[in-house]
Order: sequence, then structure tokens, then C-alpha cells
Amino acid sequence: MATPLPKPPLPTRETIRARALGLGFDAVGFTHPAAIGEAGKRLLQFLAEGRHGDMGWMAANAERRASPHVLWPEARSVIVLGLNYGPPDDPLRALSQVTRGAVSVYARGRDYHDIIKARLKALARSIAEEGEAEVKVFVDTAPVLEKPLAQAAGLGWQGKHTNLVSRELGSWLFLGSIFTTLDLGTDDPSADHCGRCQACLDICPTRAFDGPYQIDARRCISYLTIEHKGMIPRALRPLMGNRIYGCDDCLAVCPWNKFAVTTKESAFLPRDGVNLALLAELAGLDDAGFRARFQGSPIKRIGRDRFLRNVLIAIGNSQSADLAHAAQALLEDASALVRGAAVWALSRLLERAAFEALRARCLSLEDDEEVRGEWAGEAGTPINP
Ligand code: SF4
Repeated sequence: MATPLPKPPLPTRETIRARALGLGFDAVGFTHPAAIGEAGKRLLQFLAEGRHGDMGWMAANAERRASPHVLWPEARSVIVLGLNYGPPDDPLRALSQVTRGAVSVYARGRDYHDIIKARLKALARSIAEEGEAEVKVFVDTAPVLEKPLAQAAGLGWQGKHTNLVSRELGSWLFLGSIFTTLDLGTDDPSADHCGRCQACLDICPTRAFDGPYQIDARRCISYLTIEHKGMIPRALRPLMGNRIYGCDDCLAVCPWNKFAVTTKESAFLPRDGVNLALLAELAGLDDAGFRARFQGSPIKRIGRDRFLRNVLIAIGNSQSADLAHAAQALLEDASALVRGAAVWALSRLLERAAFEALRARCLSLEDDEEVRGEWAGEAGTPINP
């Protein structure tokens, strides 16, 4: 009778770490699902205070999000993985080009979900096969507190801006995680190295922090431009500058970025026509044009109307009267969100008499209450009063 082949050894932290690095991940750490300290409580407090705005998906899974071990009680280990998306230049430089739209670094290349998920699945498959274990893969959209888990796994710490900071890679890490029933032990958690620095809190254009580690998403430009569906509160619009998708200020200013390196993933490098495209050109996109331009980009997920709302706010902030024609062309757009933002942009760019004349012509034809409110509202702070 043939002797059965010996079973391959169970995967260890070191074999998994080596395999993850081989798959292109830049950071790997191991922790236990229950190792997130007070982060769960802080999330519940954040939600109770309504600071998540209209990100209903956060509140919907609150209990499970707050306790990764409740999410899947059989899980014994979490492998947290990071992919460096460090930009090739200083992202804050884009903010001075006021007739062009600044796009957050993470959205300038291809959608990272596609790239990170494929690698997480490949790694998870090998663990499941060799370890005869169950595995689940999570990336961003799943109900998992990835940043506290990353800190527990030693990838970095949650800075005062609540994002992960790595001593090796600065602010620019995409995170994903693999939960498994295999007991892999844990790495040492990272300590907080913010010290007395609060550059991230000071730079925030909309004062979105109630204090260190306390963000109110409702005032954060990332939330307002990406997650928020309606009109953006009037008081915050002038503070958005030319940021049309996300905001990097608090990430980019962190001194730990002196250790950041440019990503090695060509897919994360800026694609043509995404960052710093002319606002006038973006304002002319119809639905098909928007989809074609942002194919494979995370920007596509917010849809053309919300994107044009952001572009029109940037046009209103541009101080460039030359862009008024681009806003005026959208006064009859099918989307009330777009029409309303066009009214606000014109209130900032046209001379008062020209704006009043336009209002007299358009207001009686407008049947959407919110857009009527934009016509009736304070005419912003016209640059040509
Ligand atoms: Fe403030 Fe921008 Fe950071 Fe949001 S992303 S908290 S708006 S600096």
C-alpha cells in the first residue's frame, strides 16, 4: 500500500508575509479580531452624534463594524495588508491651479478596489488551501474597521486626522484585510507617534475637526464631494477651492511623509485627463462623456450629476469670469443638483446687474424648490459686485 504523502506544513506568519510581499503588498501585519481597543466605542459615539452625515451604510452595520469579532465569531486572526499609493509630487500644488480641478491622489489612477481585491483573494486562497482554514476578504466597502485593525497589526497608527500614518510610508496606504479561522498569532501594535504636531488639524480648510482624533465628516471635503448627495451647505462652498473629488490636505501635510516613496504600481499613477483637467471642459460632460472619461476610475461611482455639482462649485471659486459661460450653459440641465450649483457659480462670477437679469429671466421657469432657493438666496460673495 502506498504511503500517504505528508501534509504540507501549515502557513505561518512568516510564510504568509513573504507571499504577500511577493504579491506586491508593501505592508503586512497580523492581529486578533478583538484587538481594536476603544475604536468600536468611538465609532458608536461618532454615529450617535450624527457626525457620519448621510453615510447610512456606516450606521446600518454599526454593531458589527464596532466589533470585528462579532462580524465573524469563528475568526482567530486578521491579516492586514497595505498597498502604497504614494504620489510622485506634492498633491497640495494642484490647489493653486484654480481653473483646473484637483482630484484626490487615491482617485487619480485606476480604482484600487479592483487591484487590491485580486491580490487579497490570491493570498486568501493559498491560506485556505494550505491551512485547511476558512477565509474572508475585506476591502474598504466591507463593514470592517480597517484602520484600528491596521494599527493593532503594526502597520501604523491612526493620526489626529483619524487616517493611518506609517513610519515607513507616510500617509499613502490602501488597506485590505483577510480574516481567517487559522490562529496565526499577532504582531506588535504600533504606537502613536503624532506627538505635539497638529499640522493636519490646522490645515483643514473647512475646520472639520472638533479636536484631535475627532472628525465631523459633515464638514470634510472628502465626504462632501464624494458621499454627500445633495447641495453642499452654502457656508462650506467657498472653502472647497478647486477640490472636485476628495481632499488630501490633512494627509499631505503630515511630516511623516518625508519617508513616503512613490508607488511602484503604474495603475495608481495619475491617468491623463483626471487630475487638473480644465473645469470648462469637465462642465461640458454629458452622462456618456463622463462615463467614458472615468471608466475604471473611482470617480465614476459618484455619477455625472454629483461630479458636475463639484465642478461648478470649483468654477464659482475660480475667480475667473471667463468660466461663467460654462456655468450658464448648465442652467437648463436636466439635473436640479447641477442647475442649483450653476446658479451659485454664476452668483460668484457675474457682476450683480448681470446676475439679477439672469435671475429675472430664469426664476419663473424654474420649478424645483431647491434651485429656486439658490436663485433667491444670497448672491454668494460676487467677485464683481
Ligand atoms: Fe479637512 Fe480635507 Fe482632511 Fe477633510 S480631507 S478633514 S476637508 S483637510
